Formats: sequence, structure tokens, C-alpha cells
Amino acid sequence: MIRPILLYPDPRLRQVAAPVTEVTDEIRTLAQDMLETMYAAPGVGLAAPQVGLLLRLFVMDCVKEEGAPPRPLVLINPEILWTSDETSVYEEGCLSLPGEYAEVRRPARVRMRWRDLDQNEHEEEFAGLWATCAQHELDHLNGKLFIDHVGPIKRQLITRRMEKLKRERAREAAQKGAGSGAALSGSAGNNASSRLVSR
Ligand code: ZN
Repeated sequence: MIRPILLYPDPRLRQVAAPVTEVTDEIRTLAQDMLETMYAAPGVGLAAPQVGLLLRLFVMDCVKEEGAPPRPLVLINPEILWTSDETSVYEEGCLSLPGEYAEVRRPARVRMRWRDLDQNEHEEEFAGLWATCAQHELDHLNGKLFIDHVGPIKRQLITRRMEKLKRERAREAAQKGAGSGAALSGSAGNNASSRLVSR
């Protein structure tokens, strides 16, 4: 099931998410839904707070070679164990900020540890887009967004545009009689973030 993605600004995107204590059927369903939602957007990563659940869980798949098999990863309670001194810059986008992009500098490689849906522990060093995406998604679990890595002027500009977009969506929803709930979660959809995200 595709879940609605919260749009910035939304207070839920600014909270620190709680650890997952047990992998229940609800968590399995959530992870499946998040993968489905991410692929449909399309995106390369999605964190649970973006669908309104304040849990330390995100999904990602940064395979972008044409015809290559997908590699859907579900990361539960992820931690960064190590980051490289070497950095890289990517133009990042986010499904919660459709149409907005900014260059963000982050460590070029990270070593992460997490659990999967079968409670198995994994450790892996990510590089390239995988490293950027993993750090971007982990930020979401701490209430942080990619715009926090850019200067205040650009951040303010993006915030104003997003507030305007949300007002427009709310108006459209009201016109359709769909109510404000639909506007809050608007299916961010098609022109979703896509340099970080395109495949
Ligand atoms: Zn994001």
C-alpha cells in the first residue's frame, strides 16, 4: 500500500524518532509499504517519520544502473559507526520537499550497523550515492532535513516555497472537498526530488 508522504514544514519531520523495540507484523507491513511508496514516488530512500511514524527505520535502494536488479534495504535502528574524512557533494532532494534541491557536503563513506526484519544484525560500508542517501535518511530519524545543511538564506527561500506549495495543495484539497488532512499529506508525487532520487 502506498502511504501519503508528509510535506515540510510539518512538526513530525522535526522530531527524534524512537527505537524499534520489536519487529511486529505492523513493522513488516510498514517496511513493505515504505518500499512500495519509495519506488512509486520515485525515490531512493524513505524514512518512517516521512509517513508519520516516529520510529527509527528507513528504507533505501540506490541501484540506478539500467536493468540492474533492485536492492531494497530495510534498516532498523541504524547507527553510523564510522565516517570518512573525505567528503563528497551531491545535489540532494527529498520526497518531503518536492521540487527542491540543494548541494550538500557529507562524508563520502560511512560504516553503518542496523537490524533487518529478521532481527539479523548487518554492518556495511557505503560509498557514493548509497553513503549520501544513508546519511540523509538517518538525519530524518533525528528530525533533521537536508536543508539544515545549507545556508540560512537558501533554507528560508525553500521554506517559503514549501509553505506556499502546502497552501496551494490545501486549497486544491478544499476545492475537491477532500478536507485539510489530505492537504497535509499530499501525495508529493511526480516531480518528486530527483537527482538524489532518479534511477
Ligand atoms: Zn528526505
